[in-house]
Parts: sequence; structure tokens; C-alpha cells
Amino acid sequence: MKYIDIHTHPFKEYYENPHDVVKQWYEDNMEKMFVVGTSREDSVELMQLCQKENYLHPIIGIHPTLAKGKDDGIFLESIINKDVIGIGEIGLDYHYDDSPNAEIQKESFRSQLEVAKKHNIVAMLHIRDALEDAFEIVTQKEYKDLKIVFHSFSGDAEYVRKCLPYPNIYFSISGVVTFKNAKSLQEAVKLIPVNRMFCETDTPYLAPTPMRGKPNISPYVMYTYKYIASLKEINEEEFIKQIRSNVKDVFGV
Ligand SMILES: [Zn+2]
Repeated sequence: MKYIDIHTHPFKEYYENPHDVVKQWYEDNMEKMFVVGTSREDSVELMQLCQKENYLHPIIGIHPTLAKGKDDGIFLESIINKDVIGIGEIGLDYHYDDSPNAEIQKESFRSQLEVAKKHNIVAMLHIRDALEDAFEIVTQKEYKDLKIVFHSFSGDAEYVRKCLPYPNIYFSISGVVTFKNAKSLQEAVKLIPVNRMFCETDTPYLAPTPMRGKPNISPYVMYTYKYIASLKEINEEEFIKQIRSNVKDVFGV
């Protein structure tokens, strides 16, 4: 079976030859991979990589821990092209003390949401220890027509219940859901309708069980698909088909 990974980072930072690496992953079991930016440098790098293969799609953005305010949106505008299917990973991260302050992060976040809105492409969010502030921003009226995907969603069932009335909000589930201690996330995933869901790796991080502890690779997304299908008591092949159709509807590829 072939799988789609909507969030992976095959960058020079991690691999000597990212192009060879993604070719191998594609041959292993991949149908499509969305290569997601975190900085100015890797956003430029990934746009070049994605030009080489039609199964790679670029998503460009500045991570909240690298936020510089509204210049981040201006930068994305200066490099964006028609191949870009989303803006990400963007958002809020209050986990580290040495990150830019909340005001700068919000300014950067909003400036990048505006780019997604203007180009009518998806906003892919990285939210850590900031779910309430993120909810407040993304549920504002001005973003009601913007498709929003929480990357490696980490909220609980209550948060899912709060988001479900907003039909433009989607949840991407990483290998974290397969971890033994992820009970709260598993309960949340049970509540998410399959037409509001995606699967991802966040390669090279967050390898799913039974590969936990190893560097992650996109082909391991298979374990997350299998796990969620069994958690939701649905046929794996049907689940893969559903995700493929979600990808088409939301990302247009
Ligand atoms: Zn990531």
C-alpha cells in the first residue's frame, strides 16, 4: 500500500543527499510527501527539492521559535510560487524561555496567515503550550474561509469538541498517537471525524511505535495509519482512501 505523509523535513541539516533519500522513501511505500519549512533557509531549500519530483509538494513558513514579526510574511511573499500548497509550519510555541515573546510570535503568525489567505492555500500550524491563544486567533471571522491544519495535533477531546463546529479546521496526527502514554490524544482522535483528519511523520522526529527512539522517516507513517484505523475500528484501506480524498479536497493535490 502507498501512503501520504503531509509533514516531513528531508533537509540537508539531517541528510547528506535529501533527493536520494526521498527517492528511496517513494520507492518504499510513499505516494506523496509534503515538505514543510521551519525557517527562511529551509523554505528556500525545500522549494528547490520539490521541483525535482512530482510527488513532493512544498509548504513554506517560519516556525514560531524563529519568529521575527511581520517581516516573516513579507519574506514568504518574496519567495512563493504557484507550486506552494500551504504556509507552515507557523503558529505559537510558548514551551521555551528563550523563544521570541508572545507578541512577536503572534505578529509573525498573523502575517503568515495573511499570505495563506491571499493565495487561498492551507495554513499548517505548529502549536506548543499555546492551544488557547491559537484557538482565539484561528477562529476569528477573518479566517473562516482559510483552511487550517493543526500539525502533530496535541490537544485533548475537549479541544476537539471546541474546534469541530469550525468546518475549516483539520487535525494532522503524528506518531505520538501510537505511544503508550498518549491516552488523552487517543481519546481525542476517536472523536475526530475521518474527513477532518490527516496523518504525518514530522520526520526526523516523533517516530511511531514500534520504531520509537529511532530517527523517523516518512515511510513509517504507515504505522500511524494502521494504528488510527484500528483505534477507530475501520478498514485500513478505506482509511487510506479517505485521507487521500481529504488531501485532494483540502490541499488540491
Ligand atoms: Zn515539523
